[in-house]
Amino acid sequence: MGFRFPPLFFRMKYIFVTGGVVSSLGKGLAAASIGTLLEHRGLRVTIQKFDPYLNVDPGTMSPFQHGEVYVLDDGAETDLDLGHYERFTSATLSRLNNLTSGQVYENVIRRERRGDYLGKTVQVIPHVTNEIKDRIHQVAASGNADVLITEIGGTVGDIEGLPFLEAIRQFRHDVGPENVLFIHVTLIPYIKAAGELKTKPTQQSVAKLREIGIAPDILVCRAEHEVEPEVRDKIAMFCNIERRAVIEFRDVDHSIYECPLTLRNQKVDDLICEKLGIEAPPPDLTPWRSFVHHVIHPGNRCRVAVVGKYIELQDAYKSIYESLVHAGANHDTGVKIVRIDAEDLEKDGAATHLANVDGILIPGGFGDRGIEGKVLAAQFAREKGIPYFGICLGMQIACIEFARHVADLGKANSTEFDPATPHPVISLLEEQQGLETKGATMRLGTWTTHLVPDTLARRLYGSDTVKERHRHRYEFNLAYREQFEQGGMRLSGFSPDGTLTEIVEIRDHPYFIAVQFHPEFLSKPNAPHPLFSGFVRAALDRAVIRRGS
Ligand code: GLN
Repeated sequence: MGFRFPPLFFRMKYIFVTGGVVSSLGKGLAAASIGTLLEHRGLRVTIQKFDPYLNVDPGTMSPFQHGEVYVLDDGAETDLDLGHYERFTSATLSRLNNLTSGQVYENVIRRERRGDYLGKTVQVIPHVTNEIKDRIHQVAASGNADVLITEIGGTVGDIEGLPFLEAIRQFRHDVGPENVLFIHVTLIPYIKAAGELKTKPTQQSVAKLREIGIAPDILVCRAEHEVEPEVRDKIAMFCNIERRAVIEFRDVDHSIYECPLTLRNQKVDDLICEKLGIEAPPPDLTPWRSFVHHVIHPGNRCRVAVVGKYIELQDAYKSIYESLVHAGANHDTGVKIVRIDAEDLEKDGAATHLANVDGILIPGGFGDRGIEGKVLAAQFAREKGIPYFGICLGMQIACIEFARHVADLGKANSTEFDPATPHPVISLLEEQQGLETKGATMRLGTWTTHLVPDTLARRLYGSDTVKERHRHRYEFNLAYREQFEQGGMRLSGFSPDGTLTEIVEIRDHPYFIAVQFHPEFLSKPNAPHPLFSGFVRAALDRAVIRRGS
């Protein structure tokens, strides 16, 4: 086929991040943190993730399988690592930035059916690997970044990851080794009985990579204890890596936002720039350090309950937890997140779990498990004047509760949970009726909301139009508008044509606001989302009163 790519791409630099030994090493955080450092050196960065599973996207996966589904501006439902990338850098990512094996095979098979391969036998090499390499070039061409960081999901040694590793091996050859860096994130386990860090798993993981033609340039070593000089020497020697390229990535004490600082302390970014021939001044991390300082040493504290269904999972509400951290730092406040399983409220009553919190947040969700517990939480917040923040399902719950207990519409519900409800205050979006497939069929991505004058929403945003990301099928039923407004619930944000309700709020309440979209996807460390910021401010006010009384 000859040379396939225009020379433009030679100017771009590529970093590939692989993982070894075990999963959940924080590869995504390592990739994102490298992005932070390079961006603070004045470089433009974009980040993408390759996921070797066969789902076309994680949108159809349960949070039990996969954690949060992170939604991008263009409506792509992606891996939660893309959330780290957007929070740690200023890159705005698109559906191109998350490639799964499912997409690769879907494309290859579509092409085969179209006859694009001109009678050839279609194979993993070259057809699947070319598809993967093409995506790297597409992402490179789609923005104006100087550096493209690509994280390869999974662990080296997995069968399903092989085509991706072969593709990046070839890619280095295609664009020239001087433009490509391989970073391997690995584990140095501590064996208590021996009182030692063990390097063998890392040696074997690197050997596995070398077997397929990839020699890592930098090793990022996750460890629970200090990686002593002798251990570093050993790793360098047996993994055939420069000693200064063996980086310790210790568990951070307090906050994931310390990760870029940990890496900077070891001058990883200097090494990356040197190896890639990039000239860029050292980073000024002052604002980042100050943010981290507020996270770790807050002057104030408040307690916020998150009432959900996947509460025991660390990652199911990732972006919401992070948004609370951002908003907290902004108010010099440590937000203690009290995770409450909605079903426990059904068993024990709301007061048992919610009497000592300063704010109640109900996140998004699907299916009817725990719904009545969430209704109890919304009722408790409304009646006791506790700041309430409803997100997506959390807005629908607020409406159901208000209908039942204020608007006198007993048995009001969403048709998602009770198709025969006499008062369908939440019902299916018209465009959703008759849809039979589940993948990527919700109302997704960025849509404009017009804010009603003289409302809390308008005041918090300080603007009359906003753009927010969505992921839902059901909506507020405008037939009930009058009854709601008369009862004291204001509809304060609408789609531009006025047909979809985006925000509701209660006037006579310290802070009660609920939104149909997902503001948690737009919050950043030094730029908290206004609705989260307002919520934490209100929770802090309550905490001060609660402590004083
Ligand atoms: N299940 C609800 C809907 O589809 C809410 C979705 C969500 O919270 N993301 O509309």
